[in-house]
Amino acid sequence: MRWSGQELGVETTSALPGLAKLNNLVRSVQTPEFAGITFHEVLAKSALNRVPGQSVMPFGWTINPYRGCSHACVYCFARPTHSYLDLDAGKDFDSQLIVKVNVAEVLEKELAKASWGRHPVALGTNTDPYQRAEGKYRLMPGIIKALADSGTPFSILTKGTLLRRDLPLLAEVAQRVPVDLAMSIAISDDELQQSIEPGTPTAAARLATVRAAADLGFDVGVFMMPILPYLTDTVDHLDLALSRIREAGASTVLFSTLYLKAGVKPWFMQWLSREHPELVERYTSMYADGAYAPKEYRKWLAARIRPMIREHGLERGTEDPATGGVRSSALGMLRDGYGERAELRKRAPEFVTTGLQVQPTLF
Ligand code: SF4
Repeated sequence: MRWSGQELGVETTSALPGLAKLNNLVRSVQTPEFAGITFHEVLAKSALNRVPGQSVMPFGWTINPYRGCSHACVYCFARPTHSYLDLDAGKDFDSQLIVKVNVAEVLEKELAKASWGRHPVALGTNTDPYQRAEGKYRLMPGIIKALADSGTPFSILTKGTLLRRDLPLLAEVAQRVPVDLAMSIAISDDELQQSIEPGTPTAAARLATVRAAADLGFDVGVFMMPILPYLTDTVDHLDLALSRIREAGASTVLFSTLYLKAGVKPWFMQWLSREHPELVERYTSMYADGAYAPKEYRKWLAARIRPMIREHGLERGTEDPATGGVRSSALGMLRDGYGERAELRKRAPEFVTTGLQVQPTLF
């Protein structure tokens, strides 16, 4: 579909004031199937984002077809990025979604340049590429085909069961380029999951997607991120979560503790006061000095969960900084084909990927 030929002009009636700053806004739309959500369709000028050299991100390139995320995870640390157009990091992040409708076409052109080095590309590092909007816009198949046709390895990290729609395509392109898949499943308590990740599919549905991908031969990693102090760090919860993940056929689990950066903390604490007022004091004290839980807590958690991960046979894969993924055929190509692994490790020696985003390792 040639979006460039469909420019309708800005529909200022439904666009938020800050969006007037966009000179590439095509239109702002609402549809009955997505009650409460406004899609701001834009014509992207570029698709590939270079991760700055000094960044702690463990990969060099990313693609984000959407900004904002209807999965609406309360703890999401991409929230503050939404303030760039005078949108707020709370409700607007969940419901005012920027959609790069021409992203696949632009990507194709960028990948065709002689200068493109076919470096691994990470999807799902900022917002979720398989959030509900993807059912309407179907941007991912074009992105996947463009990457594969250009010989570019890539990884996808998601909470979206819509991934299942593209599994046959992913299995086909995985014959040609390394592809890493990971599912983020941090919370096995359904009530808590629906409260803190209200727009996401259930853990059971995500596990079924892991199973479907594993059945197609993918080594699927599961990211238990974030683990919430005093809510999901009990032996019972961790054991239940790991058992279900293993049963679903995942090969690896990575974990990290809740990370609460400044722009997210008020939104999260509002939720905590409402849902778990008994924990407000503890969290306030834990996160008083910054975004990370205290080192002692992180060490304690690691000592608890690592043996459990081992017992469940879920440390088969290798966490690797290059794709932000687990294991990896994409990594193999990186090591053998481009020799960047050593450089990445030097630049940022320890990483962990959290939710759909990456931050310095916490333990
Ligand atoms: S953590 Fe991921 S899935 Fe959740 S709202 Fe943020 S980007 Fe979306």
